[in-house]
Amino acid sequence: MNSTIQTQVLVVGAGPVGLTLAMDLAGRGVDVVVCELRRAGEPPRIRSNHVSARSMEIFRRLGIAEDLRQAGLPANFPHDVSFRTTATGIELARIPIPSRNERFTTTDGPDTWWPTPEPPHRINQIYLEPLLLAHAASRSRVRILHHAQVEGFSQRETGVVATIRDLGSGRVLSVACDYLVGCDGGKSTVRKKIGATLAGTPVVQRVQSTYIRAPRLLSHMPAGPAWLCQVLNPRRCGAVFAIDGRETWLVHNFLDTHEPGFDSVDRDWAVRTILGVGPDFRYEVISHEDWVGRRLVADRFRDRRAFICGDAAHLWIPNAGYGMNAGIADATDLSWQIAATLNGWASAAILDGYEAERRPITEQVSRYAMGLALKLMERRRATPAEIEMPGAVGDAVRARVGKAVHDDNVQQYCCGGLNFGYFYDASPIIAYDGEAQPAYTMYDFTPSSVPGCRAPHVWLRDGRSLYDALGPDYTLLRFDPAVGVAGLVEAAARRRVPLAVVDVAASDARPLYGRNLVLVRPDQHVAWRGDGEPAEPLGLVDLVRGAATAQARKVA
Ligand SMILES: Cc1cc2nc3c(=O)[nH]c(=O)nc-3n(C[C@H](O)[C@H](O)[C@H](O)COP(=O)(O)OP(=O)(O)OC[C@H]3O[C@@H](n4cnc5c(N)ncnc54)[C@H](O)[C@@H]3O)c2cc1C
Repeated sequence: MNSTIQTQVLVVGAGPVGLTLAMDLAGRGVDVVVCELRRAGEPPRIRSNHVSARSMEIFRRLGIAEDLRQAGLPANFPHDVSFRTTATGIELARIPIPSRNERFTTTDGPDTWWPTPEPPHRINQIYLEPLLLAHAASRSRVRILHHAQVEGFSQRETGVVATIRDLGSGRVLSVACDYLVGCDGGKSTVRKKIGATLAGTPVVQRVQSTYIRAPRLLSHMPAGPAWLCQVLNPRRCGAVFAIDGRETWLVHNFLDTHEPGFDSVDRDWAVRTILGVGPDFRYEVISHEDWVGRRLVADRFRDRRAFICGDAAHLWIPNAGYGMNAGIADATDLSWQIAATLNGWASAAILDGYEAERRPITEQVSRYAMGLALKLMERRRATPAEIEMPGAVGDAVRARVGKAVHDDNVQQYCCGGLNFGYFYDASPIIAYDGEAQPAYTMYDFTPSSVPGCRAPHVWLRDGRSLYDALGPDYTLLRFDPAVGVAGLVEAAARRRVPLAVVDVAASDARPLYGRNLVLVRPDQHVAWRGDGEPAEPLGLVDLVRGAATAQARKVA
């Protein structure tokens, strides 16, 4: 007979998105089962190399940022992006990004001024995921089923029952849960089961990618180490990521449109041409990691009690290094809304917020990433023959191309707008006040307290990060202690909505926030703001817990 496990949320997939969701839910008092195809300890594919500042802010709230920051490249290895004729060739330009031992002290570099307690971190997914897994597994409310596959599920009004096959024994078991979330990657079973379809551009760029061990490569680099070497020469353009900062590297060979197959270019020739080494140079292929850059977003992120997050919901070319990071933001958005329903203080309608908030953002980021990818493809095609020429002619070409590639790329490697500028402008659970959120680009952003934006970060007078002072659920920030909040506090208590009130000394942030009162959500986005309490505090509380009628939403 099949055995049945009862839980509150079943997370399908223990990739970075599923593990973040599991930890966030557990932190909110929700019991979670995570089901993962891979065996315990089986490494993920070597893909993402960039954890955004926003993701690090989320990991800070989960209490794991410090641990993640200690891992990855050696402490003094520069996280710079260097543009070169080959990995061992002439440097054209460099984007300075601090190594982790200088990350909090250096002021030199285009991302060092960002208003955040957690700047970005460069670490490959093969190091990141085991840490996320260890932290998730240590949470008492999280149970992880390894080497097990979710094959299907059925939904009733009151819950979901999923069928899981243990891939070791072949045994089938059932998981009965309140909600199911597919964080099961690009080939998502859950996406198919909820009837969602991916739409967009299925092929933007094919990349022949090779993971190698080359212990002597670093000593052949006159321009010195860099987290990423972008290679431009007329024979073969590519990218070389430092993985362990010593001997392992990921070499991307960007295929042109007339090279449709992954094997249409000789792999060894391409690797040597991108590295700029001769036939005697010794390296070992650890694995082939070929991939297709796409721009696809699902037409829906939910069917009743089943949701999709991360690559299950959207897939795009990794320009700006934001696929995983967008998925982590999905998980953060969905987690508190699910927890609020399970903890009994929100209406089930709060869950409408998830798709309304995350689908437009992921659609937008996907377009940014594809637009940049196409521009860079053009630039690679136009690489001038003189770029490797010695002397004044070559110098002039290198200076011109170097400036152009620096300016094109700084927006993706220091993507402040993607980190801090995005906002939710059509959410049923946010009380808008008529002011438009500030526009942003991939690179630029304006911190703002307009509802829907990320609550601007400031350091408090006592040295704490504002984010560390926020409560776990809703927080009412008060910038003027003379302004009364009793009505809102009472309304929240009446509806059992957890609400912390935090007084912020006026000079710290009042000009930035522009209002006396700002209601911040559990995911650090602004839900409402005003100079005094709203005329109907209960109406506001009902709106932000998903219990307002459509009419009431219009009035708010
Ligand atoms: C070359 C490359 C570079 C990239 N660089 C970056 C970067 O710098 N920054 C960035 O943000 N993103 C980057 N990305 C994208 C990033 O790797 C993905 O967005 C990220 O892995 C998505 O995480 P996920 O948890 O949604 O899915 P996945 O990592 O794909 O995890 C899904 C998990 O679900 C499991 N699973 C699948 N089906 C089932 C099932 N039926 N039952 C149980 N388990 C199941 C899988 O085994 C897997 O472990 C890059 C991608 C590529 C290809």
